[in-house]
Amino acid sequence: MSLPPKAGLYIVPTPIGNLDDLSKRSHALLAAADVIACEDTRVTGKLLHLIGLKRPLVRHDDHASDAARAMLIARAANEIVVLCCDAGTPLISDPGYRLVRDARAAGVHISALPGPNAAITALSMSGLPSDRFLFVGFLPARAGPRKSALQEIAAVPATLVFYESAQRLGASLSTMAEILGDRDGFVAREISKLHETGVSGILSELAQNFAAPPKGEIVIIVAPPKTEESAPMDDDALRDLLRAAMVRAPPARAARDVARQSGAARDRLYAMALEIQGKA
Ligand code: SAM
Repeated sequence: MSLPPKAGLYIVPTPIGNLDDLSKRSHALLAAADVIACEDTRVTGKLLHLIGLKRPLVRHDDHASDAARAMLIARAANEIVVLCCDAGTPLISDPGYRLVRDARAAGVHISALPGPNAAITALSMSGLPSDRFLFVGFLPARAGPRKSALQEIAAVPATLVFYESAQRLGASLSTMAEILGDRDGFVAREISKLHETGVSGILSELAQNFAAPPKGEIVIIVAPPKTEESAPMDDDALRDLLRAAMVRAPPARAARDVARQSGAARDRLYAMALEIQGKA
């Protein structure tokens, strides 16, 4: 970076396993920061130590008070405020959304640097369709809500990208095979680290393969539904999707979401949603 950065809020990604993935621009922004807002000051402090920097750190996440966010935004009007997470790109299954939302509303300068992200890296090495994908992030930990979340997205005609813990990998893959059908999948483990692996297979095979929890960090990629599975859905399948959507949304929004997923008419779905609500 030739010119010193101007005042504002800078979203700076950090390595997900290999220190060499910190870009020159990210390094320069960290060096220039008047304050670095981060998830865990010990983790970001360690990164700064490894790259020979010492900057003021303040712990920040989406549970921070309105006053704490307002303080950072006020500083970003005249100073360089950097937002980091423990690893990878802030806001992607990590804190920062509220800070950026409020900073944008306040009109401060915001810039996001491109950099490490586990989801995109796993997708790009998976060999599965990358033209259209849905980033799902973490599924709910409990079995019931996890099934509902998968039912909700079962008909989405796109590759699916999940974050998952190694401990739950086998159970998640079996539930995915059950709900999404036996689609092609890919498990990326320890991306950019010494023991990086990528395993392809159909979901039921992958579930067997990873029945014993491996070590490390995991991304799961699942291929889109096969074309015959995307054929018009019958009423029972549409009702299942609506019931799952109505756990989170009122009938009108559930009908809109399911119409997008299934291609069925929104009006017909809304009538079905009201009927389901009446029976509930
Ligand atoms: N913000 C991060 C990003 O941009 O990728 C993601 C943070 S999220 C809290 C952490 C999850 O990302 C892990 O549980 C794992 O699913 C995935 N992840 C992070 N680093 C990874 C790596 N090196 N290899 C595989 N998955 C990784």
